[in-house]
Amino acid sequence: MTNSNTGVNGAIGVIGLGNMGLGMVRTLVREGFAVIGFDLSGERQDEAARAGAAIVASQKELFKSCDTIILSLPTAAHVTAVLTGEGGLADGGDGAPRLVIDTTTSEPDVTRNLDQILRPLGHILIDAPVSGGPAGANSGQLTMMVGGSDADFAKAMPVLTALGGKITHVGPVGAGHAVKIVNNMLVAAHLLTMSEAIRLGTAAGVEVEHLISALNAGSGRSAISEVNYPKWVMNGAFDSGFTMGLMRKDMRLAMALAAQKNVAMPVSELAGALWAKSADAFADDADFNRITEFEITTDATGMHPITAGE
Ligand code: NAD
Repeated sequence: MTNSNTGVNGAIGVIGLGNMGLGMVRTLVREGFAVIGFDLSGERQDEAARAGAAIVASQKELFKSCDTIILSLPTAAHVTAVLTGEGGLADGGDGAPRLVIDTTTSEPDVTRNLDQILRPLGHILIDAPVSGGPAGANSGQLTMMVGGSDADFAKAMPVLTALGGKITHVGPVGAGHAVKIVNNMLVAAHLLTMSEAIRLGTAAGVEVEHLISALNAGSGRSAISEVNYPKWVMNGAFDSGFTMGLMRKDMRLAMALAAQKNVAMPVSELAGALWAKSADAFADDADFNRITEFEITTDATGMHPITAGE
C-alpha cells in the first residue's frame, strides 16, 4: 500500500525512540506517514505511542511490518546488534528488500561492513546522521549528512525531506558518518575555545553579554556562540537534549578515526583529551554544554598546569 501523501510504501519503522527518535516520530506522523516504533524502554515506547506511533513488541516484528526503517540508536554497536543480531534484519525475514536509514552517529567502517552484509540479502543501507538536536528532529529541520549511492539516496529522499531542512549527499555509504564525526569534533572543540574566550574577555573587563553580542557580529563567531551560549549556557538551562556521554563518544570516534587514518591534529587531540578527562567532573547524562564549566586548571592533558599569577 502506497501512502498518497508521501509516495512511500507502508509504514515507516523507527528503532530507538530517545531524544532524537521521538522527535522524528512526531515529524513523520505530522507529515502523514504511518509510523511504527520500537525501543527497549517501555517509557520511551509509551511516549512514542502518545505521539501517534504504533508500537511493536520486538525489532523482528518491526522489520516484518516496515519497508523503510529509521535507526536512532546510541552507538555503532547498538546498530550492529539491531541489524545483524537475533531478530535483526539479517536474521531471516521474508526476503523482501528493506531500506534502512541510519541516523545514529555511528562509525564509517562499521557502516560499510553492515552494507556488505545487507546488500547481498537485497537490503539497502544509507547513513544519514543528523545535526540540529531534538528541536530539529521535532520540527523536521534536521541537517542531514548522507552516505549512499545516487540511486539509494534518491529512494530515501521522501523520508529524508520530511526529517531534514538541509540535506547534503556527501558520498558513498559510510561518508555521512565520517562527516558527522568531523562536525562533532568541531562542536566539541568550539565549546572549549568559546569558554576560554569568555574567561579571557571577562577577565579583561568586558561584560559577558557585550562580549557575546560583539563576537556574534564578528568573524570569531560559531554555532556555539550564536546558539549554544544564548540558548543553553548563559541562562543556566543546560537542557539541549544532547548528553556529555554521547559527545564524549563522538570525540572518541574522532580520535580513533585520526589514529586509523594517520592524520596529525594536535589541537583537536588536546580537545579530545580534555573531553575524556571531563568524565571525572560530569556524568554521562549531564548536558554536553556543561563542558563550558569544566575547570581546566589542572594538568588534565599532560600539559603544564596553569595557575593564577603565571
Ligand atoms: P538517546 O539515548 O536519548 O536515545 C537512544 C534510544 O535508543 C534510547 O531510548 C534507548 O532505549 C534506545 N535503544 C538502545 N538500544 C536499543 C535497541 N537494541 N533496540 C531499540 N532501542 C534501543 O539518544 P539520542 O540523544 O536520541 O541520540 C541518538 C543518536 O543520535 C546518537 O547516536 C546520538 O549521538 C545522535 N545525535 C543526538 C543528538 C542530540 O542532540 N540528542 C544530535 C545529533 C545526533
